[in-house]
Amino acid sequence: MAQNEAVDVVLVGAGIMSATLAVLLKELDPAIKLEVVELMDSGAAESSNPWNNAGTGHAGLCELNYTPQAADGSIDIKKAVHINTQFEVSRQFWAYLSKKGAFSSPRAFINPVPHLSYVEGEKGIDFLKKRFELLKQHHAFAEMEYTEDKSVMNEWMPLMMPGRPADQKIAATRVMKGTDVNFGALTNKLLKHLANAPDAQVKYSKRVTGLRRNGSGWTVSIKDVNSGNSREVDARFVFLGAGGAALPLLQQSGIEESKGFGGFPVSGQWLRCDNPEVVKKHQAKVYSQAAVGSPPMSVPHLDTRVVDGKTSLLFGPYAGFTTKFLKHGSFMDLPLSVRMSNIGPMLAVARDNMDLTKYLVSEVMQSMEQRLDSLRRFYPEAKAEDWRLEVAGQRVQIIKKDPKKGGVLQFGTELVASKDGSLAALLGASPGASVTVSIMLELIERCFPEQTKGAWAGKLKEIFPAREKVLAADAALYHKISAHNDEALGLVENSPAQSYA
Ligand SMILES: Cc1cc2nc3c(=O)[nH]c(=O)nc-3n(C[C@H](O)[C@H](O)[C@H](O)COP(=O)(O)OP(=O)(O)OC[C@H]3O[C@@H](n4cnc5c(N)ncnc54)[C@H](O)[C@@H]3O)c2cc1C
Repeated sequence: MAQNEAVDVVLVGAGIMSATLAVLLKELDPAIKLEVVELMDSGAAESSNPWNNAGTGHAGLCELNYTPQAADGSIDIKKAVHINTQFEVSRQFWAYLSKKGAFSSPRAFINPVPHLSYVEGEKGIDFLKKRFELLKQHHAFAEMEYTEDKSVMNEWMPLMMPGRPADQKIAATRVMKGTDVNFGALTNKLLKHLANAPDAQVKYSKRVTGLRRNGSGWTVSIKDVNSGNSREVDARFVFLGAGGAALPLLQQSGIEESKGFGGFPVSGQWLRCDNPEVVKKHQAKVYSQAAVGSPPMSVPHLDTRVVDGKTSLLFGPYAGFTTKFLKHGSFMDLPLSVRMSNIGPMLAVARDNMDLTKYLVSEVMQSMEQRLDSLRRFYPEAKAEDWRLEVAGQRVQIIKKDPKKGGVLQFGTELVASKDGSLAALLGASPGASVTVSIMLELIERCFPEQTKGAWAGKLKEIFPAREKVLAADAALYHKISAHNDEALGLVENSPAQSYA
């Protein structure tokens, strides 16, 4: 029998996660042999596609759910600081690659777009003001501005002001340094850069159909989706970067650490506007508060998007329920993921989250007029003819075992790795693409501990002069690194208005 082809690493899926990990591994060990296997005929065809996500460079500058308020009124800014420094770690990697000449123009994937938070009513204003006063004391948020003055808001968000009741109480914060990121363009740039390296292959229209233990590594079965032909590849390490479809592959691996995990898929929709007359009046990402009792992914925002040199506006997301794990997936994805080991946690989540289910069903049932009503809370004079409905990517939220409740629903991401470090999978969807580099660094530390401390330590320090904790604690270093990243990513030359005019 012919021997299988052998590589060091197989990465399943060509989204932002696999593309980042593959390029990072090649930087750390240029001799490493790796293969990226993608089911679609191009990279970034699922959640990493620019129209499947909101493209917010999440840095805690505008997302009000990153600074939760406790019942006693106190506000916790830890999560906002952590995500901000994680984003700076992502920017360090992109800046490093940019300086190396890996990207012809970083502006093809990252653009300056101010990040604003906007609230209504006394309670909202009280929260925003307290949050601003706390964040402002931290160096990562020193440039944040606050206003209750409508003439100032008219400058900050001119599209959103006309047509409001004169006595409406509103407030906003702004950080000019926010960004819009085209994660699809970034993914494809990373894949292109990778394909130029020796011993790195990116194979499209190939589905990973199975994986089994092979000594200390894995044998991966790969099927050509056009010809139906199959082949097997042996790998020392496998990364399941299959987005929503990572869970079924993780279950197939049979590793102990996969037991008990389930998935709760949530679909999404946006309203999109390409009318240049409307688009030019809004140059910001404006985030507000989710309705009481609704999940974090339902936080409404009105965003400038910069995709392929054109600007558009996106409003949403409107959530919905589906049983598919990928936008191009199958309705059987959810039922086929039920196992003896996860049925308990899944039933517990179904029992404890009836409100969420009801909320998702009500979102699905909304008419276009009801969707426009939500938009008009932000943009009172919105006209139906300027907006069309688009389908967003899938988010498969994590269901996991819980000793008290039996099972819980988790809205973040979770890296699941085998004890021997030969396989890892990324589950969950938030805050997602913005913090890819931190997640992949965690993977490397967990699955390649010897190399991280030994042969790769110097290169890691060169690419990442400061990691999250140091950036959070050292103001001078934070500002130095951030300024360096701005310069390398071409974010200092132009103001937002000039940059995408
Ligand atoms: C509505 C929405 C809004 C979001 N907004 C933001 C945002 O504003 N900012 C942000 O930072 N993040 C955001 N995110 C999150 C972000 O999009 C994701 O975290 C990120 O794109 C996930 O990347 P990935 O590589 O893990 O998965 P994906 O991009 O989904 O890639 C997975 C790939 O695996 C392939 N695949 C699946 N199964 C197989 C198989 N068996 N064999 C081979 N290939 C396979 C798929 O075809 C796909 O190409 C958002 C997500 C959604 C859904």
